[in-house]
Amino acid sequence: MTFGKVHWMPLLVGLIVVVGLPLVGRWARWHSRSGCAFDGGKIDPSYRVAVVDARGNSHDFCCIRCAQCWLRRQPAPLSAITVTDEASGEMIAAATAWYVRSTVVTMPMTQNRVHVFRNKADAETNAAGHGGRLLSEAELPFREGIGSPLPRDGSPTP
Ligand SMILES: [Zn+2]
Repeated sequence: MTFGKVHWMPLLVGLIVVVGLPLVGRWARWHSRSGCAFDGGKIDPSYRVAVVDARGNSHDFCCIRCAQCWLRRQPAPLSAITVTDEASGEMIAAATAWYVRSTVVTMPMTQNRVHVFRNKADAETNAAGHGGRLLSEAELPFREGIGSPLPRDGSPTP
């Protein structure tokens, strides 16, 4: 019977598109998230840096150093930079974070030694334990990308 052949083919193609496209999309997103946008290195979720450009596209980086190198090549203003709080693993706005430069390298490839914390207490504990120190406002990463720092947790209230 030809009935089945004629009418099932478009249905089958439709089914493949409906089921297949989201899978392809998911794979593409996973694939684009799997490497650093600057050097292609593997991204450890504990140190991930994410930058949303002026067009709304998100770019992930393995460390602060890669994000800084990439940002220097960006002519347009950026809409958001988020960094990972090492204590909780959560993403936070770069302008609200405390940064510690210590002897501990987060990414052997780039020799990045800047660590990120949401709370000043966590940053101070990390610095004390690893021969590091908190970065001053003049040394903060992404100053050009995010402007002046926002009030941070642990900052003295004016
Ligand atoms: Zn990288």
